[in-house]
This record gives sequence, C-alpha cells and structure tokens, in this order.
Amino acid sequence: MSLKTRILGLAALLIIAAGTASWLAYRALSDDIVERWGQQVAEIQVRYDSARLLQSLEREIGLAQQMARSSALLQWAGAPDNPTLKARAIRQMESFRGNFRDNSYFVALRENGHYYYNNADNEYAGNQFRYVLDPDKPDDAWFFQLLQEGRDFHLNVNPDTELGVTKLWIDVLMRDDNQQVVGMVGTGLNLDDFLQDIVDIGQDGITTLFVDYNGAIQLYRDRNYIDFASIIKPEGQKNTVDLLFDDPQDKQQILGMLQILKRRNGEQGAVESGFVTVNDRKHLAGVAFLPAIGWFEITLLDLDTLIPRSYLWPLVAVFLASLLITLALFHQIIQSRILRPVLSLEEAVHRLRNGRFDLPYLPKPDNEIGRLVDHFEKMSHALRNTTRELEQQVARRTEELQRLARIDALTGLKNRRGLDEVMSEQIQRAEREQTGFGLLWLDIDHFKTINDTLGHQAGDDILCRVALWLKAAVRPYDHPGRWGGDEFVVLLSPCDPATLEQIACRIRTSVEKESQRTGSAITISVGGYFCPPGEDLDTLLRIADQALYEAKRSGRNRVCIHTTTGKEIHPA
Ligand code: GH3
Ligand code: MG
Repeated sequence: MSLKTRILGLAALLIIAAGTASWLAYRALSDDIVERWGQQVAEIQVRYDSARLLQSLEREIGLAQQMARSSALLQWAGAPDNPTLKARAIRQMESFRGNFRDNSYFVALRENGHYYYNNADNEYAGNQFRYVLDPDKPDDAWFFQLLQEGRDFHLNVNPDTELGVTKLWIDVLMRDDNQQVVGMVGTGLNLDDFLQDIVDIGQDGITTLFVDYNGAIQLYRDRNYIDFASIIKPEGQKNTVDLLFDDPQDKQQILGMLQILKRRNGEQGAVESGFVTVNDRKHLAGVAFLPAIGWFEITLLDLDTLIPRSYLWPLVAVFLASLLITLALFHQIIQSRILRPVLSLEEAVHRLRNGRFDLPYLPKPDNEIGRLVDHFEKMSHALRNTTRELEQQVARRTEELQRLARIDALTGLKNRRGLDEVMSEQIQRAEREQTGFGLLWLDIDHFKTINDTLGHQAGDDILCRVALWLKAAVRPYDHPGRWGGDEFVVLLSPCDPATLEQIACRIRTSVEKESQRTGSAITISVGGYFCPPGEDLDTLLRIADQALYEAKRSGRNRVCIHTTTGKEIHPA
C-alpha cells in the first residue's frame, strides 16, 4: 500500500472517529436541549391550556355557585312541595339558564331527589321536573356520591342516559344557613364542543389531556379513553392515564409525576416532565396540577413531529461535505507538502544512482522535507562537480597515457606505434592527394661494439644524442622516430626525391660531425625510399629496409636512396 493511500486512509479513519464522537456528543447535547426546550414548551403549553380551560369554566362555575346561593332556590329546597316557592325558584333557574354558556341547567333536591333540567331549546319549559333520582340506580349514583363526599364543587364528565346527552357537568352543592347540603345545581357543557375548543386544538405533535385527582382521564380527544362518571367508579375500574402507555416504566413515571405534584400541592408554575413512549413514538410528557379544579393537565409532545429527523439531514450533509472537503484539503496538503517532494526526491535518487545528473524539478516545501531536498540537491551538485573533475582528470591522464604510448621513453621521439600511425596517415593522404612522401631508415654502425666497450649507459647516451641531432637535421613538419634498438625512422612530408636525398645526407653528415665534436665518434647508415601514392605500409617498409641494407652492405656510413626509377648510393 502506498504512503499516500495509507495517509489518506488514516486521515479518513481519524475524521470518521472524530465525526462519530462529535455526532454522539451532538446527539447527547441535542437530546438535552430538546428536553429543556420541551420542558419549557410543556410549561408554557400547560399554563396556556389551563388558562383557556379555566377561562371557559370559571364564568360557568361562578354562575353555578351564584345559583347555588340563590335565596329563591335555597328556600324552595327547604320546602320543595310549596308551589309558590317552586314557581319562584323555577323562574330564578330560568333566568340563570339564559346566562349559562350552554343555556342549560339542572337542579337536584336532596329532600325528595327531584331532578330539574332545561336546555338551550327550552325543551322542558313548564316541565322542568324530569325525574326522581334513585339511590339504587347506577345512573344516579353520581348525585348521592357527591352528596356523601360533601365537596362544594365538582367537575364530572358524564353521559346522562335519561336526557340523552354527554356533558362536562359543573356540580355545585347548595347549602342552607346551617351549612347543611340541601341540593345541587349546575350546568353542563357540550363535551364535543369543549373537547374541540380546549383539548383537540389541532396542533400537530401536541396532545393535551386532563385527568382528575386520581389520574382518571377526564378530557381527551379520543372519547374511548375518557373515564365517564369517574365519581361513581370504584378504584381499579377507572380509565387512568397509565392506559395510554405500553411501557410499565412509563406508567410508573407518569403516576410518579402526579404524586410529586400532589405533594407540591399546586405550587405556582410547577411542571414535571420526562420522556415516554406513546404509539411507539418518543414523546416528552409535561404534567401540571390545576388547583382551581383539582385536575392535572398532561401535555404530550411528539418530538419526531415537532423536531423531525429530516431536520438533521442538512447537518449530516454538512458533516459529509466537510468530511469530503477536509479529505480533499488534507490530500492537497499531503500531496504538495509531503508526497510530491518525496516522490520527486525518490526519482532524483534513482537517477543519481544510475549516474544521471539531470535531476527532475524538486519542490521544496517549507518543512523538514524541504530542508532534506535542499541538502540532497547540494549534495548532488557537489557530487556532480567532483565527478566532472574526476572525469576531466581521467581524460587528461588517458590522453597523456595515449601520448606516452606513442613516445619512446629514452629519446622522447615517436616510438614504433607513433611512427606506424603517422605512416598510415601519410599513405592515406598520398592516395588522396596523389603526392608521394619520403621515408628514411637509419641504423647506427657497430653499435654493439659501442655498448660492449663503453657500456650500456654510454650506448643510451649516444642514442639520445643521435635523436637530438636527428631532430635538428629535419624540418619542423617532418616526423623523426625511434623504430627500436639503434634504428631510427624519419617520415618526410611533403617531399620529393631530391629533398629526400638532401635531408638523408644532411642527417648522416650531422651525426658524423656532431659525434666527432662531442668526442664519441659514430656513424650511421641511411636507407631512403620515396614512396609514391598507392603504396602499402609493408612494401614501403620493406623497400626502405632494403635501402638500409644496401647502405650497410656497401660499407656503412652512407646513404642509399630507392626511388621508383632506381637506387642511388651516396658514400660519406
Ligand atoms: P651494424 O653496423 O651491422 O648495425 O652493427 P651493429 O653492432 O650496430 O649491429 P646491430 O645494429 O644489429 O646491433 C644493435 C645493437 O644495439 C644490439 C643491442 O645490444 C643494442 N641495443 C639495442 N637496444 C639498445 C638500447 O636501448 N641501449 C643500448 N645501449 N644498446 C641497445
Ligand atoms: Mg647498428
């Protein structure tokens, strides 16, 4: 796996890990925020709902209480059979009917259990007495239960089978001057209207319900859950609020909240809240106690509706986009700051290892890698300079060696190899230009004797001197050389037969005279050949050698020149 893949993989892992941690932290934080927000919403909702509920009820309750204290009704309750009092009381009741919101009322007397009622349609005008309440009849049990409990005021959701209506009843006890209960008055509110106005407010995600002091459901948008006529039901048979929850823990939690609020006894603005599950959806439940009517209000906030998960998608999109942007930036930075310089450096090292100094462009980021690249570049420059110098030195030495390989070490003249080269060049040139050149072959006479009598070193000295005289006797552009032993060769170019002969004689004379002058008299024999174009090297050498042989044979210390026309011997 390449470094790039590994770094990017690691970066992606780190970002995902950091992202997951942030996501979890966000979820925890958002849950906390939602809970706090939900609590506040629940508090506001509860206050708002209770205000609306009480506003609707307070006037009705006040009117009912006023009716219960009405002297006409109280007097009649004391003597229910008195027709005068009854007529006055009914007139009084009818005047209250016009004021009640529902335009209905009821009056029930303790003395004879007579139940009076009239509705908005004035259906029972002159016939307000409806029936006699019977303690043994379940439908009438509410009356006797309330009398027994002696609560001055009570709200009761109850279908009246006799009247064929389901209403939220406001029941107020009538007490005489001695505080004895003499009857009950009240009015009913159409339950459907009331539910629609107060409970089923049509706000998505918010469910409001009211439960009584015992947790029995009183007002709820689903009538099937309402615990009608709670007052007369024994404990255990009531539709209590816990029916709404499937999870036993949620049931416990809600009932626990009711208990806490009961203990706090209507403390101003007290709201309890907690998460519960309703119909498999997470809800935040807010509970408040309404001391004015002795009920609890429960508000259920469906968090998925109020704060849908889709709200989070932009966040996820932002997260993913930032992940991609971060990776792209990271890739860009890694690429420009690390990978590209490292890869260029690798390529440069590779080239240098193969002896190439044409390094690629090396980016130098402002970091450790940049400094490393800088060091490498300086090092490679130094190496290149050193290598160049070495190469130049080697070239110079090679050139020198090549030169030395063509020079005779003793005399400093061309050696046999050097002479071979010059002769080959001249053969080609002669061929090309169709002009001849001259070749002289020289040999010291009786050199062995010199060596034998004077010693080898003296022989060497004589060889060196002969070389000097030879050089002095030829033209600057001629090529004198030592063929080996006591034999010398001179190549003369340009040349003609006369010049060849002239120079050969001059050399022989010079050696003879100069040696005599320096006290070690020697002589040389010279063979010469004027070589025409088209002659090969072997023929050329052979003829020159023959000429030398002729010079030796005819007495030494003389010149013998061969030309194409014949040979000529020049004695000393
Ligand atoms: P000739 O007149 O026939 O040439 O008689 P020569 O004695 O000179 O006979 P030759 O040319 O055959 O002998 C050459 C001698 O040169 C033989 C060898 O001992 C001697 N010699 C060859 N190379 C060197 C050298 O480098 N130094 C010295 N001192 N003597 C050399
Ligand atoms: Mg000799």
